[in-house]
Amino acid sequence: ATPTSIMVGTGRAAELGILFRNGEALQTLRSSQVVAVDKTGTLTLGRPELTDFIVAEGFHPDEALSLIASVEAQSEHPIAAAITNGAKNRELQLEEAQDFEAVPGFGATAIVAGRQVAVGADRYMERLGVDVGAFRDQASEFGRKAKTPLYAAINGQLAAVLAVADPMKPTTPQAIRALHELGLKVAMITGDNRRTAEAIAAELGIDEVVAEVLPDGKVEAIRRLRAGNRVVTFVGDGINDAPALAEADVGIAIGTGTDIAIESADVVLMSGDLNGVANAIGLSKATIENIR
Ligand code: ADP
Ligand code: MG
Repeated sequence: ATPTSIMVGTGRAAELGILFRNGEALQTLRSSQVVAVDKTGTLTLGRPELTDFIVAEGFHPDEALSLIASVEAQSEHPIAAAITNGAKNRELQLEEAQDFEAVPGFGATAIVAGRQVAVGADRYMERLGVDVGAFRDQASEFGRKAKTPLYAAINGQLAAVLAVADPMKPTTPQAIRALHELGLKVAMITGDNRRTAEAIAAELGIDEVVAEVLPDGKVEAIRRLRAGNRVVTFVGDGINDAPALAEADVGIAIGTGTDIAIESADVVLMSGDLNGVANAIGLSKATIENIR
């Protein structure tokens, strides 16, 4: 491509809300074979809501949810907001939490009203030595419905199973179809529960799922997708997407995402609309192949 055609291409892209931070990305994108996407905040709105809450025998629902929400009030994870809003909607009072500790990719814990309260994924409970067997069926059922199952323990005892659901962005199904029409494979990379991720992938026709990835594991996931010289474009929005955005052949950040993701990306989609990915690839083809 000539410098002029690159300029024209980046200019067209800007009109579509696609910001190329370097000219090289415009050249590379057309060779993409796999588009890997982060789930939360990229495919979905990133604003989960509490949909289910079931206590174990011997626990009072309102009291348990109040304790759990009191821990989550200290956390910045989107799931934490879902749980504190759920408690607020039930008009529950929150209490002060002490010794709060967030364990990225696992969950969070604190002392509330003299009790050790922990909330998070099954792998967090496993790490704390809390057996979640009693709620395994409910959790599987939540996963099948594309909800994220969570567990809570109070003083080391399994106290509740919860589910949160994060609505799909309305533009996502069409965006995935457009990528398939370009002949690309679509992969999802997420820290979320495997069943939940697979339910969402099935709904969207996504080809490959890498689930239950730890926050620092996304780079490794990109490396594996790149094996055999496959050209991989990664799309993400979060802090923990930044290294993967840098690792991919082309990194595309959602403009509504975190600053660090945007700074690590080659391309920025100014709106949150994932259709920008197929548009950017189409523009790359048009620019380089000099179809007008
Ligand atoms: P993702 O953003 O893809 O969900 P994270 O690494 O942030 O990935 O979290 C992975 C999982 O860890 C979440 O799906 C959830 O089960 C659990 N988790 C992390 N932080 C919290 C929290 N504050 N409250 C409840 N669960 C949490
Ligand atoms: Mg995200």
